[in-house]
Amino acid sequence: MPELPEAETMARELMAKTRGWLIAEVLVNFPPIVASDFRDFTDLLKGREILKVGRVGKWIHFGLEGDHDLLVHLKMTGQFHFDAWPGAKGVWPAHCHAAFRLTNPKSPNEERTLFYKDTRKFGRLRAFGPGELEPFLTSLNLGPDALTATHLEYHQRLSSRKGKLKAVLLDQSVLAGFGNIYADETLLAAKLSPIREAKTLSLEEASVLKEEAREILTKAIECRGSTVSSYQAPEGAGSYQDHHKAYGQAGQPCPFCEKPLKKTSVGGRTTVYCPFCQK
Ligand SMILES: [Zn+2]
Repeated sequence: MPELPEAETMARELMAKTRGWLIAEVLVNFPPIVASDFRDFTDLLKGREILKVGRVGKWIHFGLEGDHDLLVHLKMTGQFHFDAWPGAKGVWPAHCHAAFRLTNPKSPNEERTLFYKDTRKFGRLRAFGPGELEPFLTSLNLGPDALTATHLEYHQRLSSRKGKLKAVLLDQSVLAGFGNIYADETLLAAKLSPIREAKTLSLEEASVLKEEAREILTKAIECRGSTVSSYQAPEGAGSYQDHHKAYGQAGQPCPFCEKPLKKTSVGGRTTVYCPFCQK
């Protein structure tokens, strides 16, 4: 599932390839992926220039001219890539469910098609007219971004929740951006146990957690994310999986004490940790 570094990578690469381009045509071949009003979806997007592409937590946001927006939740396997417009023949690349034909106003003969691809089909696309995005984002109740939140925010938000530290870290209303990979990596680096109660976290421990999270997420963005199963950014696979020390490493030596890392389940999610080093 794409987490903060994967969503950030996608947003950056989409920005580089689509900013300033116009959405000339929109096709959807699997209507359930559109979570906003399907009848309005094409009308809200068609003919609009893409002004910017960014990330909100693990969501991808396209800011369009005239205060219109496209927001995409990638869920398990959502991704974007460029290919040829399906056209009249209707030939779609495998597992692609929405197509956006883009034209370059500075070079009228140039066009490219952006596809939304989603093997599991759990991702969702939403189009917004003027003034509609903000209320929707508010309704998501996302916590501060995991990359930019301060150590005080880490402490206040984590220590005020009931539940195991790992489960609370995965709650997007506490901090936005963590998923299973970067929660395990960050907790091991910070030497904090995933199974302790979040409310026992001290300010000093929260500062260490925040600092390790910043380092790991920044490095993962430099590596263009982790490709462990299906994730691909528009420019291809990421490489941070080569740096994983916890995720998928059960039985491997702990980087601190060299005893084998243990696998358990926290809140229904597979969790790898060192019972000796993570307090
Ligand atoms: Zn250890």
